[in-house]
Amino acid sequence: MEKKRITIAVDGYSSCGKSTFAKQIAEHLNYLYIDSGAMYRAVTLALIRAGITSIDDANENQLQNLLSNIEVGLANIPNKSGWFTTLNGEIVEDKIRSLEVSNMVSPVSTIPLVRKKMTQLQQEMGKKKGTVMDGRDIGTVVFPDAELKIFMTADPVVRAKRRLKEMEQKGQKATLDEVLMNIEERDYIDQNRAIAPLRQAEDAIVLDNSHMTVEEQMVWFKKIIEDIL
Ligand code: C5P
Repeated sequence: MEKKRITIAVDGYSSCGKSTFAKQIAEHLNYLYIDSGAMYRAVTLALIRAGITSIDDANENQLQNLLSNIEVGLANIPNKSGWFTTLNGEIVEDKIRSLEVSNMVSPVSTIPLVRKKMTQLQQEMGKKKGTVMDGRDIGTVVFPDAELKIFMTADPVVRAKRRLKEMEQKGQKATLDEVLMNIEERDYIDQNRAIAPLRQAEDAIVLDNSHMTVEEQMVWFKKIIEDIL
């Protein structure tokens, strides 16, 4: 019998390994993986490129204009596995991971116009079942009816160390303190914004991976998904 296809929402704090986990489960189930954070990062990059370095500098008209002229999407590159975030057709996967973008993305994500546009786009991209989307408001706002919701958390210092290692591997420079500060600041802004704040959905299953390896996480997931499908 063919297995049913569902929507899986993975939410949680910054740098908990949501993308790694969501990507792996999408691969395991042969689902489409969508990184909603990358979309907010791409908008942030567009704002920076337009000379906006603080959200206080952006007025409504300017934002409206800018948002109607940017296209955020996903591209599949031949010979490279997975999907890559695009901004007006340009692959910006690496550029959106810089500390400059990381430091501005959470304030940008509080802007109602930005959230409205990204939420609509995400709902459109994931409307076919067989999708894993990770972010902050996927189980609460984007797909409140998702059949499986996972809420990820981990100790902030563990998260900062993992993130720093990832940045170093890409040749990006930062200190542990800088990364930790960025993570804590983003968590604070994400949890305290007026629209779509980071919250654990009531029906979400919590995954605290502070002391878990990537492999152990998958074992945990496989047990859960077996019961659902
Ligand atoms: O997932 P990632 O850390 O790349 O997301 C970057 C930022 O985008 C988050 O810190 C958060 O402010 C914002 N975001 C959001 N809603 C989502 C996904 C990300 O506000 N669904």
